[in-house]
Amino acid sequence: MKTAAIYARVSSDQQKEDKTINSQTAALMTFASSQGFSVPAEWIFEDEGFSGATLIRPGLERVRDLVAEGQIQAVLVLSPDRLSRKYAYQVLLTEEWLRHGVETIFIKAPQSQTPEDQLLLQFQGMIAEYERAQILERSRRGKRHRAKQGEISVLSGAPYGYRYMRKTEERAAYYEVIEEQAEVVRQVFDLYTAQALSIGAITRRLNEVAVPTRKGQSCWERSTIWAMLRNPAYRGLACFGKTQEAPRQRRSSRAVRMSSRPPRRGTRTQHETPPDQWIQIPVPALVDEQTFDLAQERLQDNKKFSPRRTVEPSILQGLVHCAECGYALYRTSTCSSARKIYYYRCLGSDAWRYQGKARCNARPIRLDLLEDTVCVGADSNVTHPADRILTRGWKPAAFVPTVDKCRLFADEGCSP
Ligand SMILES: [Zn+2]
Repeated sequence: MKTAAIYARVSSDQQKEDKTINSQTAALMTFASSQGFSVPAEWIFEDEGFSGATLIRPGLERVRDLVAEGQIQAVLVLSPDRLSRKYAYQVLLTEEWLRHGVETIFIKAPQSQTPEDQLLLQFQGMIAEYERAQILERSRRGKRHRAKQGEISVLSGAPYGYRYMRKTEERAAYYEVIEEQAEVVRQVFDLYTAQALSIGAITRRLNEVAVPTRKGQSCWERSTIWAMLRNPAYRGLACFGKTQEAPRQRRSSRAVRMSSRPPRRGTRTQHETPPDQWIQIPVPALVDEQTFDLAQERLQDNKKFSPRRTVEPSILQGLVHCAECGYALYRTSTCSSARKIYYYRCLGSDAWRYQGKARCNARPIRLDLLEDTVCVGADSNVTHPADRILTRGWKPAAFVPTVDKCRLFADEGCSP
């Protein structure tokens, strides 16, 4: 069952008009139970006699904290104007919550029927955009300043091992150590550094003994362990500003390839910033500095010696994907006694990526063979380079690569 919080507000004027806060809450409760949301009594927040023109309202602040703590999936509100009288604030709040994966549900959304309403709506949108940009800039500067003062509240939530304790009137926000989780973090670092287990082996071990994850539902992923080993909070210095928004780099993905719709343009995503731009905020350390540094060294070595390392690029890197399953092919290598042999391999065929079950049975293909064939194909304008590979003895079911020809040509500086 999904959990939700309820937010209701009446200003002092409205109370006179006999619009009580109880009727709002009752309507929201009815809606919640009809839609299958569970709303604990302590998650019903009411601001009685507060103006919708300001964001400083005790109930609203509690909802924002609750969202940041990651405890709910939705916030239920009667209508947008209960959230705020200002359109920009409505946008600010709904977007803030969306960033935490929390949906804002208005049970009475205003209907816009007439052309005047439509026009007003568009004006509101434009003004909101401008105000939002201003608010974001101001809050970004404000946040950097507060991060430099060591305030925990600028960090979004707490990583595994900690509980984010919201600020109260008496004290600032802080991280509280969750001892059972902290023990798991220490074990992971120990297994990786002292016992030299691989990230994959650690992941398997955690899943075997069924250590609960933070949400307690899913199982552990390698990427989670990898991120844990890199997180400076565990050595006692949480970092602010580790990522910044930038345009999405990858132009093609499996989801895009498998759907018939064209890829979305102009999407933005979070990119990691250089560590010297991070602002450190002291938090309780879970591992000692030496262990943490050792883990970083090992991660660096992994990067250097990984067979998937592609510092020297290969021609078709990022250009080919598997026709069988749609996953991209990546370059990898094996060492025979005499030499190193390079392959392109389907991501879907790696069982370790998908909890021990490969999603595709395509076999790896020799790099020289594929590149040779595709280049010959591109020269003579053969539309299906895969045909040539098949004629070289590959079984049709085993492997059919397809090449994003437009990109191949574009990268060479010609038009497709
Ligand atoms: Zn495949």
